[in-house]
Amino acid sequence: MLLEVEGLCVNYGHIEAIRDVTFGVEEGTVATLIGANGAGKTTTLKTLSGLRKVRAGAVRFDGKDITHAPPYQRVLLGISQSPEGRGCFPGMTVLENLDMGAFLRKDRKSAAYRADLDRVFDLFPRLKERERQAAGSMSGGEQQMLAIGRALMAKPRLLLLDEPSMGLAPKLIQQIFTIIGEINQQGTTVLLVEQNAAQALKRADTAHILETGEIVRSGSGRELSGDDSVKAAYLGGD
Ligand code: ATP
Repeated sequence: MLLEVEGLCVNYGHIEAIRDVTFGVEEGTVATLIGANGAGKTTTLKTLSGLRKVRAGAVRFDGKDITHAPPYQRVLLGISQSPEGRGCFPGMTVLENLDMGAFLRKDRKSAAYRADLDRVFDLFPRLKERERQAAGSMSGGEQQMLAIGRALMAKPRLLLLDEPSMGLAPKLIQQIFTIIGEINQQGTTVLLVEQNAAQALKRADTAHILETGEIVRSGSGRELSGDDSVKAAYLGGD
């Protein structure tokens, strides 16, 4: 397992946001956490990035205990997050935003860095066209692409994606999920948090359903998308 999460509990004051969450992500796969608003999806990702303190439980990455590691150390180890609501730097250009994603890399003048930038531009040609444009003046979909591209510039082994389809038109949603598939095929392990359960289950090797802070079901994407109770609760009953 590349990522192992064991008995994770995270609080906001007295509120238990997640309770006893246990799951693993195999290297090379796509895993997804699905659930309704407030189920604890974002809290789980923020905790994996080191932005929330763990009350109990453990997180291991590539066999190393990172339960209390600061965010920058996790980035250096290979965990990178594309946050919910995009979170680009609006006054900076596309290129500058991508460069921020590579902030901790020491090879920013190298051919490897250039190759990673080209890889992002291959995945998102729209970003190449707009490389000198201020991020804040781009459309929601373009900013979403930029947030994913920025996370990729850290050269992650594990990419954490928080609601990449949020607020996007249906055609663009399809495109984002196709690109997530390509990123995975190029060798990056993906943990995807989504309210768009249908799309997420279609892409995921493994899936976990979060309800009020607890994992209530786990299985393969295919298994869960074919399950009647999952269909009724998360897939609009079809
Ligand atoms: P959404 O899809 O709506 O973002 P989510 O599944 O990502 O939902 P979280 O944002 O992780 O859910 O929230 C889990 C629980 O923690 C919710 O009950 C929420 O109200 C609470 N919570 C989240 N952030 C805070 C905060 N900063 N302070 C207090 N409670 C919070």
